[in-house]
Amino acid sequence: MSYGSHFDWPFLEPRHKALATELEQWAGQTLSDEASDHSVRAVDDACRKLVRQLGDGGWLKYAIGGTAYGGSANTIDTRALCLIRETLARHSGLADFAFAMQGLGSGAISIFGTQEQRHRYLPRVAEGSAIAAFAISEPDAGSDVAALQCAARKDGDFYVIDGEKTWISNGGIADFYLVFARTGEAPGAKGISAFLVDADTPGLDITKRIEVMAPHPLAHLTFKDCRIPAVQRLGNSGQGFKMAMATLDIFRSSVAGAALGFARRALQEALERATSRKMFGQVLADFQLTQAKLARMATDIDSAALLTYRAAWLKDMGHSVTVEAAMAKMTATEIAQHAIDSAVQIFGALGVVSGQVVERLYREIRPLRIYEGATEVQELVIARGIIKEHKGSERG
Ligand SMILES: Cc1cc2nc3c(=O)[nH]c(=O)nc-3n(C[C@H](O)[C@H](O)[C@H](O)COP(=O)(O)OP(=O)(O)OC[C@H]3O[C@@H](n4cnc5c(N)ncnc54)[C@H](O)[C@@H]3O)c2cc1C
Repeated sequence: MSYGSHFDWPFLEPRHKALATELEQWAGQTLSDEASDHSVRAVDDACRKLVRQLGDGGWLKYAIGGTAYGGSANTIDTRALCLIRETLARHSGLADFAFAMQGLGSGAISIFGTQEQRHRYLPRVAEGSAIAAFAISEPDAGSDVAALQCAARKDGDFYVIDGEKTWISNGGIADFYLVFARTGEAPGAKGISAFLVDADTPGLDITKRIEVMAPHPLAHLTFKDCRIPAVQRLGNSGQGFKMAMATLDIFRSSVAGAALGFARRALQEALERATSRKMFGQVLADFQLTQAKLARMATDIDSAALLTYRAAWLKDMGHSVTVEAAMAKMTATEIAQHAIDSAVQIFGALGVVSGQVVERLYREIRPLRIYEGATEVQELVIARGIIKEHKGSERG
């Protein structure tokens, strides 16, 4: 048995294995571990460079849908997304972030955009010459995202956007933002629309840069009389929330893919350390307490991988995967946190030294249990889904 052999699982096709093998080679040659300079400027530069490298390497074509616009296929291949994120995360959290955000920030354009919108944005996203961002969260609307207050008022052939967005990844370096704003067709989720806002639009300001434990570009945005042409609205008005959820149905499984990458790297590091660290006349891996940790890590990783690639496969087969993607995201991010913690423990004091791989992984994994729906939100999504199904089967 080899925990690396999941490429041969029936959820994946030979082209997926070929993709992962090729990317592994590219990543090994191109990517390095986190740089020690965590300043906003250094992280911005590193992220811009990674987006370019991912574009030049041909990997960003998997982040968009539509061969006419530079995509690898006409619809986004969810399994490819997960494999790419898993592989990149094993090498570099920032590379995984750079790849993921190109997809998340442009996903709704791939799925719902007009031909003009796709033509204008997707080729640049795929080649890495335009950086994308997804702006839905607000200071008072995170988990309860349907409570968002940022408003878009129709004014002739324009919309005027006013409000705040926060925790926006790529904020400050993005070339365009996919912004969700209230258009008021109905209260709550049914009164939200989505807009493409170019970064240089007057009235859009990056009012604060936010520094986090796993450094990546993150910002607070303010919209004040921000006027955009009405053709920049994506899809029908009032459909923004549905579009956001449809995009997350694809990208949630890929968060699980990234978590798997971090967890696999932690297991690899833990195995190397445990089999070489001498103590009490033996090596650490000779002790049953260590073996139990390694066994738990390997088993948890495979369980999470099965859930992840099941969700991705179901999505690619055209099924609704709201529940399965939530199961995958919740499980993979939670077990990865635990596996990485075990790796840090196996490393002893060395595990908490800045610059150590396991120390970096410990910081990288934490936000994944919060963004794109915290674990508690995934639990509610799963429970809602199975209760609904149960009630349906009782009636049926
Ligand atoms: C690194 C990072 C990057 C991000 N990038 C983006 C981005 O690019 N675009 C974007 O729009 N947003 C982004 N976010 C925001 C993210 O989506 C929100 O942080 C998330 O939705 C949670 O919202 P909140 O932080 O306001 O927490 P809150 O909504 O205040 O929730 C706090 C905690 O409450 C718990 N909780 C939630 N619901 C329930 C419940 N029903 N019952 C019990 N407990 C519950 C959870 O543990 C949750 O973590 C990012 C966040 C982080 C950390």
